[in-house]
Amino acid sequence: MIDFHSHTNRSYCADKDLSLDFYEQKLSESSDFDGVCITDHGMAIYFPDSVAWSWEYIKDSRIFDNHRDFGNERLEKHLKNVALLNSKSIYCGLEVEMSQDGKLIYDSYFRRKLHPLIGSVHYLFVSNEYGYLEKDIAGFWLEHNKKLMESGIDILGHPLRWISSHAKIDDSMIEQILNIAQQNSVAIEINSHNITKTLYEADKKMIIMAAERGLKISLAVDAHKKVQVGNFDFHNRLFKECGISLKDLNLLNLKDIGL
Ligand SMILES: [Zn+2]
Ligand SMILES: [Zn+2]
Repeated sequence: MIDFHSHTNRSYCADKDLSLDFYEQKLSESSDFDGVCITDHGMAIYFPDSVAWSWEYIKDSRIFDNHRDFGNERLEKHLKNVALLNSKSIYCGLEVEMSQDGKLIYDSYFRRKLHPLIGSVHYLFVSNEYGYLEKDIAGFWLEHNKKLMESGIDILGHPLRWISSHAKIDDSMIEQILNIAQQNSVAIEINSHNITKTLYEADKKMIIMAAERGLKISLAVDAHKKVQVGNFDFHNRLFKECGISLKDLNLLNLKDIGL
């Protein structure tokens, strides 16, 4: 199995000992772990940690403009480091957010070098913390996801994670996300990081609906710790509980992301 989304210590939220070397070692000793796309956070490459964690760049993309050169230099180096391991089935992608004014937070100059480009929602200023009502949050989130999937990303990262802790998820929300993914040839991700009971139930509905439509499915461990690397137990359990077998799924492959 290929993990299309995992982190190294290049991301501020991952453990310090989660190195590229560790991935190399793990791939060489595991029989069902066939490859990994290292998709560190764009925000950890483009911003120093204090700027990254303030999330201000989500509402003001000029903060990205001011850090573009700083980040580009770091991304160039990072790509070169990971490229040394391509022969070991380790590839380099990126996980990025979109600002609320509709800009992906990375330099599109790098687009064709990234395998894959994942678009994810980690923070929005239209949320309960800022006094918005659930229906307005859900509406804004949906619009935001639409722009995100129309922006040229390969994969929608953990599609329901953010909304699962900010509004009630109904079937029509999942349906709309899947429709937009289908229209834009974006793969839907099954992600095993930070799963709550609510999110697990929503993910089950999502995978059943996505499988019925034959949507591209991307498997993501989203490892932030050594112990998580190459571990697909969550995915296997989820598919089993949904009565889905791996061979019934239209799984994303390396060719789909330009490799
Ligand atoms: Zn993420
Ligand atoms: Zn991630």
